[in-house]
Amino acid sequence: MSDDILEGIFTKATAGKILIKDRKTLTIDYVPEKLPFRDEEARTIAQTLSIVLKGARPSNLLLFGKPGTGKTAVIKNIIKRLQKKAKELEIDVIVPFVNAKTANTAYKVLYEIAEEMGINKGEKKQQVYFTGLSMGEATDRILDFIQKKKKLHVILVIDEIDSLVDKNGDDILYNFTRANERMYEGGFISLIGISNSLTFKDKLDPRVRSSLSEEEMVFNPYTIVQLQKILSDRAKLAFNDYAISTAAINLCAAMAGKENGDARKAIDLLRVAAEIAERERASDVQEIHIRQAQEKIEKDTNYEVLRNSTTHTKIVLLAIMKSKNGNTGEVYETYSSLCKYSEHEPLTQRRMTQIVSELDQLGLVMTDVVSQGRYGRSQRIKIAFPSLTIREALKDDPILTTLAMVD
Ligand code: ADP
Ligand code: MG
Repeated sequence: MSDDILEGIFTKATAGKILIKDRKTLTIDYVPEKLPFRDEEARTIAQTLSIVLKGARPSNLLLFGKPGTGKTAVIKNIIKRLQKKAKELEIDVIVPFVNAKTANTAYKVLYEIAEEMGINKGEKKQQVYFTGLSMGEATDRILDFIQKKKKLHVILVIDEIDSLVDKNGDDILYNFTRANERMYEGGFISLIGISNSLTFKDKLDPRVRSSLSEEEMVFNPYTIVQLQKILSDRAKLAFNDYAISTAAINLCAAMAGKENGDARKAIDLLRVAAEIAERERASDVQEIHIRQAQEKIEKDTNYEVLRNSTTHTKIVLLAIMKSKNGNTGEVYETYSSLCKYSEHEPLTQRRMTQIVSELDQLGLVMTDVVSQGRYGRSQRIKIAFPSLTIREALKDDPILTTLAMVD
């Protein structure tokens, strides 16, 4: 029997081995019980909140940090433990948790708070529903509910609070930070705001700012070595022993750590790589799968961003794609004529430049400044992803698709 045949038999035997033993541990929402490198943060927050167990109002708290630095995970763990303890001690604490980004509108935020507090199960005239209520009335109903319950202690967590303020300003926050002035019988509300943006505070009215940030904490990005530990812990939960090499884990950590020290990105890479390995019936997750995962994630995000961007942003991208030397003036000319073809009123050059810098921040275009000798310096703009992706993302729009095809 030839070596090839034997090799084939042995390969088949290992093919389709089960790599993942616990899939849920690789999902976005999974919070492990142990969160290494966040002991200090957890201790301080727990300390602040713990006075609720003595019936006193914890300070409002603002947590900042780039995405994937463990803010949500840390808070969720603490809340879970705090609620357990409060229950043991028979203290009336409720901790509504809303994510302002997924809730999307200020109204939905209020609605979800009301749901989590059980207000909507109560009397009809106290309920908070979408129709007919003004924002002020909805807030009032929530605050009335707390007041009527007398000794109710509320710790309201608003995750991704920056997205609420970006879209709806800080009126709701103003009302909540003022609410304690009208609580008479030992009830109160404390606010925990979590923000991915470090400059979030600048957008707040000074009164809201000072009251919301009675205490503050910054979560720093993880180092590559820290990510290695986080990932290898997670891999132990998620994979069978033989299913992933240390080299692959370290590569994952290096890739995710290089830019932002983002644990979410690291875990996403791990999950997508495992899915690729499974599909290929590989015997374990290898470095090549991590690299393929990286490419796939990048492509998917670019695609999503493109598909959901405004028509003008799409036309700007087409203009950059078509432009020969990529300087701003030429891109604007191309953009204007594409607008004409597609019967859109062109935006000003200034506004187009803003769109370009937004795209730059998203990593969809690259800009650099080139010297043009005695003509001074000018900016050069280039697309930072395959043009195939843009064509795919424009599929739903026949006019832009046609523009993308012609030279
Ligand atoms: P943020 O809210 O700061 O964007 P998350 O708390 O959502 O970040 O964390 C992102 C992902 O990384 C989650 O899956 C979380 O479980 C995981 N994670 C973050 N920090 C740690 C840590 N110290 N140990 C283990 N897993 C972590
Ligand atoms: Mg978060």
